[in-house]
Amino acid sequence: MTIENHLMPPGKNRDQRPIHDLRSMVMHWVENPNTGIDHTRNWFIRGEVFGSYHYIIDIQGRVGRIIPENERAFHCGSRVYEPRATKLFGADVIRAMTTNNFSLGIGLCHPDWTGKFTRETIISALKLCADILYRHNKSEGIISTHYEITGKNCPRYWQNNHAKFEAFVKSVGQILAKKRAISLEAEKMLAQIL
Ligand SMILES: [Zn+2]
Repeated sequence: MTIENHLMPPGKNRDQRPIHDLRSMVMHWVENPNTGIDHTRNWFIRGEVFGSYHYIIDIQGRVGRIIPENERAFHCGSRVYEPRATKLFGADVIRAMTTNNFSLGIGLCHPDWTGKFTRETIISALKLCADILYRHNKSEGIISTHYEITGKNCPRYWQNNHAKFEAFVKSVGQILAKKRAISLEAEKMLAQIL
């Protein structure tokens, strides 16, 4: 999987504050049909409102890095939170309203207002999520939707079809298990090679 760098310059929506600990990976729709990585990125840069993600995946499955994983983005902050947010982040983070300091945000592009994702977007999202969880040594259980954190209607398609989101999470878990198995196998092979 290739990740293209589309990094935002530092500014209002990339304030370069650190991510303390990854407690949730939050999935979004870009809420703007048939647009690509730079459309949303440039809107974030203009900074009319607070908003940014770490990654955007377009409808062709291209993955753009907008903000580095060790810096926070503005994608799931709120004054009110859903019950799942407390389970993922812990009561202290919810009380302090600092969910953005403990999460990564991924924005998924979509062709129309139903918000349904393309095959290409989902394939890249499966790989990207498994890759991030593998590197951070976390489980697929920390994947959430924006609506599970703050109640916002995002991503629309998964809010209307929650079983599809659950199937997505399960699939990420299966890819993650395979990645870990390959890594273990490689370590075992070392004895014969070194
Ligand atoms: Zn969202």
